Amino acid sequence: MSDLKLVSRKHSDHNTVIRVGDELIGAKELCLIAGPCAVESEEQLNEIAKGLSELGVKFMRGGAFKPRTSPYAFQGLKKEGLKMLKNASDTYGVKIVTEVLDTTLIEEVYPYADILQVGSRNAKNYQFLKELGKIDKPILLKRGMSSTINEWLLAAEYILLGGNENVILCERGIRTFDTSVRNTMDIAAIPLVKELSHLPIMADPSQGTGQRSLVTPLSLASIAAGADGLMIEVHNNPEEALSDGFQSMYLNTMGDMVKLLRAQAEHSGRTLNLIKEQQTV
Ligand code: PEP
Ligand code: MN
Repeated sequence: MSDLKLVSRKHSDHNTVIRVGDELIGAKELCLIAGPCAVESEEQLNEIAKGLSELGVKFMRGGAFKPRTSPYAFQGLKKEGLKMLKNASDTYGVKIVTEVLDTTLIEEVYPYADILQVGSRNAKNYQFLKELGKIDKPILLKRGMSSTINEWLLAAEYILLGGNENVILCERGIRTFDTSVRNTMDIAAIPLVKELSHLPIMADPSQGTGQRSLVTPLSLASIAAGADGLMIEVHNNPEEALSDGFQSMYLNTMGDMVKLLRAQAEHSGRTLNLIKEQQTV
């Protein structure tokens, strides 16, 4: 018998809808989370938050604690970065999605995040997943870069079993033999996870492809495949970004992308959840 219990469709025949303040994730409206890979400075973050809020985007991402492959790479602004996220949230009214790197940081990150992101590298950190089960805020659980769909759903099972039912899955590409792209975006995972689980699933085509030119087409494909939302990296100056600039969208052309996403959402019988009054596209 499968160990997929709490996450399984058999456990709940309706789709789980996650409430973040007044916003719902997993209902008809698609959630768009956009923002820089990492928080780099007050100016950078505010410029991005301003641009995104003018487009009607309600959720902003930005890493204050960054999991980097190289110990010499920029590790994030840590507490200072969290404070910048809070300021941007207060000024522009965006909700904050930011990564929590390990158990010792849950308490520090918790007050600053509306959704806590768990990175691909932590998708098999079982002790950490158990701790995330004890908190009451939504968790955006990235797929491990070498996790099967079953392993990924079992990671979510750990969090639900601990008592936190607010889990949003996020497909972010897996490692395959093909090195032409940073990761191979597993689009089939989206409808398959929908068959297997009642949890909402989002897609992150930025980490999923590692290439700016592929982010829009893979975003459209993810919506067509049934994703409940997208996480997109955006930067005001990608060439100078301290992490993942090559896969970050330009802030000044983000409006064109949002237009396409809205059209695709409507084509798929959904709508894109944007601030209606501020929507300029
Ligand atoms: C990120 O979102 O910037 C990130 C590090 O993601 P992942 O954990 O999917 O690599
Ligand atoms: Mn990134």
